[in-house]
Amino acid sequence: VRLGLDVGGTKTEAVAVDGDGRILASVRMPTERGQDGVIGTVERAATALLAHPSVGEAAAIGIGIPGAIEDGRVRHAVNLGLTELDLGGIVSAHFGVPVGVENDVKAAALGTHRLRGGTEPVLAYLNLGTGVAAGIVIDGRIWRGSGGVAGEVGHMPIDPAGPPCPCGQRGCIETFVGGAAITAGWGRGERSVSDLFDEADAGDAAALAARETFAGGVAAAIRLLVLSFDAGTVVIGGGQAALGGRLREAVARRLRRDAEPSPFLASLGLDARFELLPPASPAPALGASFIDVSVLI
Ligand SMILES: [Zn+2]
Repeated sequence: VRLGLDVGGTKTEAVAVDGDGRILASVRMPTERGQDGVIGTVERAATALLAHPSVGEAAAIGIGIPGAIEDGRVRHAVNLGLTELDLGGIVSAHFGVPVGVENDVKAAALGTHRLRGGTEPVLAYLNLGTGVAAGIVIDGRIWRGSGGVAGEVGHMPIDPAGPPCPCGQRGCIETFVGGAAITAGWGRGERSVSDLFDEADAGDAAALAARETFAGGVAAAIRLLVLSFDAGTVVIGGGQAALGGRLREAVARRLRRDAEPSPFLASLGLDARFELLPPASPAPALGASFIDVSVLI
């Protein structure tokens, strides 16, 4: 049995998985912030799973968490209030089992790949939430690149005259697609992406323009992932995937429009090459259970 935990900004989902990848038990709890909060949340979630009658003992624990990850250490997980934490070492010492820690988007990509049968040669998982990033799975393994930067498509600039990005560049994909950026660009204060779609559907001109900008950013990310990795499928997850069919429609329409002048782009069939992760999918926690352990006991 392996445990997989997806530590999110507000909630933590955790699953226990048997040797065939079947989910034996799952729990969900709010994530507490800060060093002690995150450690406490992880230990409570894992303890709750181990107490489940069908689980018993765990052979390993995998944790997906935002931030830059190296050898079980988490750095720059701003939303969780962490600057640096040896999460792998601490959890491994507590439970006496090897622990793997991976960036949450990369872990979700792995889980998505497994849930879809685990046979696709190249799958990209595009997370649309507060931030925008992708995880790439090639031949069943997470593609990390030389230093873990592979998939950071949110910081690909697509408009040199676009809004400034916290990363220091202008017009990054994230400045058009990230949760905060959309409502800022729309200029109506604190509104959700789903409000934006509602008002666009009602014919509001500013909302229509803002939705088009958003769809253009998502389309650019999909194009980038297919052109860079030849991803057979780009699966969209994260908070904004909850928009469902409305997101699908807006993005597919934009991809078709962008491909009109280009037989090359049209030949890639991008509008049929992306899908949405179903709501409440266990992919992020499941993927965490499959990450390679980097901290041994
Ligand atoms: Zn940026």
